[in-house]
Amino acid sequence: MSGIIPQETVEQVRTATDIVEIIGQFVRLKKRGRNFTALCPFHAEKTPSFSVSPERQIFHCFGCGKGGNVFTFLMEHEKMSFVETVRHLAQKAGIRIVEKKGDDRSREEIEKLHYAQVVAREYFRQTLYADKYREPVLRYLHEKRRLTDQAVEFFQIGLAGEEWDGFLNYALKKDLFLPELIQAGLIIHSEKHDKYFDRFRQRLMIPIFNLSDRPIAFGGRALKSGEPAKYVNSPETPLYSKSNVLYGLNFTRQSIREKNEVIIVEGYFDLISLYQAGLKNVVASSGTAFTPAQARLLARFADTAFLFFDSDSAGQNAALRSIDALYDAGLEVKVMIPPPGDDPDSLTKREGLEGLMRIYGGARTFLQFRTEGIDIKQSGLIAKEKLIKELAELAAKINDPTRRELFLNEASERLGLSRDLFRSAAGGKSSPTRKIPDIKPPKKIAEIERDLLALVMRYPEHLEAVRQKLHFEDFQEESWRKIFSVMLTLITQYETISESALIDLLDDTELKIKITSLAALDFPVTDPALMIKDHVNLLLKFKLERIIDTRKAELKVAEEKGDSDKARELEAEILDLIKRREN
Ligand SMILES: [Zn+2]
Repeated sequence: MSGIIPQETVEQVRTATDIVEIIGQFVRLKKRGRNFTALCPFHAEKTPSFSVSPERQIFHCFGCGKGGNVFTFLMEHEKMSFVETVRHLAQKAGIRIVEKKGDDRSREEIEKLHYAQVVAREYFRQTLYADKYREPVLRYLHEKRRLTDQAVEFFQIGLAGEEWDGFLNYALKKDLFLPELIQAGLIIHSEKHDKYFDRFRQRLMIPIFNLSDRPIAFGGRALKSGEPAKYVNSPETPLYSKSNVLYGLNFTRQSIREKNEVIIVEGYFDLISLYQAGLKNVVASSGTAFTPAQARLLARFADTAFLFFDSDSAGQNAALRSIDALYDAGLEVKVMIPPPGDDPDSLTKREGLEGLMRIYGGARTFLQFRTEGIDIKQSGLIAKEKLIKELAELAAKINDPTRRELFLNEASERLGLSRDLFRSAAGGKSSPTRKIPDIKPPKKIAEIERDLLALVMRYPEHLEAVRQKLHFEDFQEESWRKIFSVMLTLITQYETISESALIDLLDDTELKIKITSLAALDFPVTDPALMIKDHVNLLLKFKLERIIDTRKAELKVAEEKGDSDKARELEAEILDLIKRREN
C-alpha cells in the first residue's frame, strides 16, 4: 500500500491493535450481539447503522457504505495518511518501526501546522511563567477566575505577552517559517506596513484540541477589561474548522460517554470551572450558535444534552438557537437555568459542585423551559400560532415515535391546547418515516453468492470444501467473483483469510466496501458446514440450469439446421443434466 513500512510490520501492528478500542475513542459503541454498533461518524443519522466487528477487526456502515479495517478508519476519520496511521498505532502497541524515507507533501504541510500549534502552546506557557508576568497573571487566574494551579496546568493555559513579535521571534528559532505561521493563524501580515506580527497579544491563551489530543487552535481572552474584543480566536485553518469542534471534548468525552449525558456551556472558562468543581461531562460551544456538525458529534457520545447558558436573555436566546440542531441529531434536550443574574461560572464560584448538582438535578425539559410563564389564553393569536408551529416543527424532528408522542402530549397539556392543533400546524409534513424491512423474496443468485462468501469469511476452514466444488467463474456477480478469487489466492499463500488482509490486497474501493459489507452480515448460523453445503448446492443448481438453457438453445439451432445427429446428442445431454439437477 505504501512501500515505506515493511508489510510484516503492518501485519504486526494490525494484530496488536484492537479496532473496538481505537474506534471507541471516537464513537460511542454499544454491544449488540457479536458486534458493536454506533451512530455513523461519516454520515448524519439518528439510528445506528455503523457496525464494528471485534472478531473480524473491521467496521462497516450500512447507511453510507463506508467500511474497512482499523487503518482505513483512522485515515478517513482523522485524515491521517496510511504511514502515519501505522506509525501511530505502532507507537501505542510499543512496536518499533524501521521506516524508509518517503515523501508525502501535503501530509508534511499538515504536520508543520500541528508543529506550529505545539510550539505556540509552549511559548504561551513559558510566557505565563516568565518573571515579568507570572505573579499578576496567576493572581488574576486564582482570584478572578478561581482557577487552581492544577486546572491551569491541566488545561494548559498560557499567556500572550505585550510584545508585537515575541512569538514570531521564538517560532523562527524553532524551524518555523512565515508562510506556515500565517497559515497556522498565529502570525498576521500587515499589507499596509508590510510587517509581520503576532495575532495574539495580552491575552490568556486557551489551547483547543482535537480528539487525538493535539492542539489545533487557540482561544485568547483579553486580560484587561475595555479591550475591544473580549475574545480573539484562531481563524479557520486546515487543522481547525470552528463549526466542527467543541471545546473540551477531548478531556471530557469519557465522562460524557459514561453518564450518557452532556452539559453544554458557552465559554471556555465555564467549562474549566465546572470541570474543576468535579462536573466533568461538559463541552463548550465557544459562543457560536450550535452547528449541526457539533450536534452530531455530541450524539455520538450521549443521548441527552443539557443546555447550561447564562440566565440573561442573550444566553437564553442562544439556548433556543441551539435546540434545532440538537433535536435534529436525535438528542433529547434539557435546560439547566442558573439563578437570575448568574452564569455557570459565577454559580460555580459561589456554590461549587453542590450548587451545580442542584441545577443539574432540577433541569427542565425543553418544553417546560419554552412554555414557562406563558399564559396561552392571554397571548395574541399570532404569538399563539407561532409557538404552536415552533413546537410542532420541533416534534417532527424527533425520530423516535414514542418520544415524539410524549413530546406532543406534554406540549398540548402544558398549553391546554388540543393535540389536533399541533398536528395541523405541522402542515401535513409528518415526521420522517422509518424504512420498514421488506418481506423476504426468494433469494436471488447474487444473494446466495454473497451469503456463501460471508459464511466462508466467518468459517474459513470450509473454504477448501467450497473450492473443490465451485470455480470462481461460477460466480455470476462480478464483484463476488473477484472477491472469491482473491480469497483463493490468500488461502493458497497464507492458509487463512481475514477481511483485513483482503481489504489491504484489493485496490478497488468498491470491492473493499463489499468485503466489509460481507463481514458485517450477521445471520444466525447453527451448522456452518451444512449451511455452506446448501449454498454451494444451490449455486450448482443454478449453474446446471444455465448449462441446460444453453444446450436447449443449441438444440433449437441444430433442429433448424436439420442436423439430427447433433440434435440427438444434445437431447441426451439435456436429459442427463436435468437428472443431475433433480438430485
Ligand atoms: Zn455511514
